[in-house]
Amino acid sequence: MPFAEHSTALPSFLDKVRHAFSESASVLSDNMEHYDKATLPWQGRPLGVIVPHRGDIIPALLKLASEDTVPLHAIARGRSWGLGSSLPPRNAVLLDLSKLDRILDIDMQAGTARIEPGVTFQALQDRLKAEGLAFHLPSFGGPVDASVLANALERGEGAGPCGDRFAHLWDIDVALATGERFRTGHSRYQADHLSSHHARPAGPLLEGLFSQSGFGVVLSGQIGLQPTLPYMAMMLAELGPAEKLKAVLPVLKRILNAGLVPPHALALWNGAKRVSSLAGRYLSDQDRQALKPEDWALSLMIGAPHPDLLTLTSRILASELEPLTDTLTLQHDRDEKGQRLETPMTGFSTGQNVLSVYAGKAHPPETPGNPDQDRCGFLWLCPVLPFEADALIHLDHLVKEINRDQPFFTALGLQAVSARAFHAYVSLAWDRDLEGADARAMQAHERLWQDFSTQGWAPYRLGLPDIAKLPPASDDWPHVLKRLKKALDPQDILSPGRLPGL
Ligand SMILES: Cc1cc2nc3c(=O)[nH]c(=O)nc-3n(C[C@H](O)[C@H](O)[C@H](O)COP(=O)(O)OP(=O)(O)OC[C@H]3O[C@@H](n4cnc5c(N)ncnc54)[C@H](O)[C@@H]3O)c2cc1C
Repeated sequence: MPFAEHSTALPSFLDKVRHAFSESASVLSDNMEHYDKATLPWQGRPLGVIVPHRGDIIPALLKLASEDTVPLHAIARGRSWGLGSSLPPRNAVLLDLSKLDRILDIDMQAGTARIEPGVTFQALQDRLKAEGLAFHLPSFGGPVDASVLANALERGEGAGPCGDRFAHLWDIDVALATGERFRTGHSRYQADHLSSHHARPAGPLLEGLFSQSGFGVVLSGQIGLQPTLPYMAMMLAELGPAEKLKAVLPVLKRILNAGLVPPHALALWNGAKRVSSLAGRYLSDQDRQALKPEDWALSLMIGAPHPDLLTLTSRILASELEPLTDTLTLQHDRDEKGQRLETPMTGFSTGQNVLSVYAGKAHPPETPGNPDQDRCGFLWLCPVLPFEADALIHLDHLVKEINRDQPFFTALGLQAVSARAFHAYVSLAWDRDLEGADARAMQAHERLWQDFSTQGWAPYRLGLPDIAKLPPASDDWPHVLKRLKKALDPQDILSPGRLPGL
């Protein structure tokens, strides 16, 4: 039976939770301002908030929600700014997992950490530093208080060889809406010791079912960390207009295929993205004037176990790129005395990109805080692009057109995921306090989507406004997906509307 949110079912369910889990969860049924704002217009609202203090109560809690057919939507830290923040796809009670913030195990020999969903980038990197930093967490551009586990489940990315986070996540501990709980790795066969060394036991692999799906609630997971090489550098190249990519991309493809640099260590940026992300402060008028959206740049992260190898690799890369670029610089991660600095090259995310969320604000607050509360307008679109210069040039022209027609701040970045494809991230920033700006942003979103689908560029990640835009599948996928959902969540209580057609 469908859930009637204005009936007594909701207060009765929240009362049952208060009663059954009085010691181990808090429940909110009003004063939810912290949860019910986002950086984009969205209709789904929190109907209440449950904050468990312990993971082991979650299977029983989900079972109770199933019995009462109350929709629940899990959030880890609610930092999905530009994708929907804490808001659910459709009205639902939020299950805020931020208090489950234990690093359950860390193995500095194997380079793995078992973490709960509330563990932030800052907390895990701090711990790895305290343990000697033989391994680190690939750095990223997002807020440092976001969840590492949620980012991995959402198939987020960091810089470096282990930058594909989902590829480095295994042995997840899953709670289902049926009240069942299981592990996807060796631990289910009582081989816990193997879990920190090996990801894939014999048999079907189930992790993918719980990534970008809302099919279950993940209580913890094993994260494979990146070995911290003793010598690191960042090569930055100024390219000029997008047309230069025609000469540069074949060289980059060769560099990746040769293994000189791993895919997730290569990023490309347009002028707007560079200025808004790298400035580390609000954009001044001077910044904006210096902003040349027609100018592109790239960065390559280089690592080596020996200084000679770093020098040689840098030289080879420079000889390949110098003839094609305006300027080429090499930044090392050590000071003049050879002391290692804390930089993104060894996992220290700065969080300064978050300032780009404020790039469309006419009057940003003195101190940036929470973009949801500060009425920033911000959204991401995440299409996959082939590793072809024509595709990037097309995207560059499209973004310029949007910028010309509308008062948005539109920025563009791309991360190589292989020598075959890029993950593009297009961001629109505007001021939600300006009349009509939300509607104009959603028109621009629509226009970008239409163009991407004409180009055949499908998304790799969905924000809430993207869900309804996916074209219907042309095969038996919807039926199979519905059966899977029915098997795992018979009452359809978890994140209803999270996937199109469900
Ligand atoms: C300026 C800026 C730059 C950014 N740069 C990057 C970047 O470089 N790389 C990148 O990957 N991202 C980037 N992001 C995106 C963003 O930071 C991440 O997606 C962030 O990790 C999500 O926030 P969160 O961890 O609080 O997850 P939440 O918002 O809490 O959750 C995200 C999703 O995961 C689901 N989920 C969460 N926990 C669980 C669980 N335990 N079980 C099942 N489902 C769960 C939720 O239902 C939700 O759909 C950037 C964002 C901004 C604003």
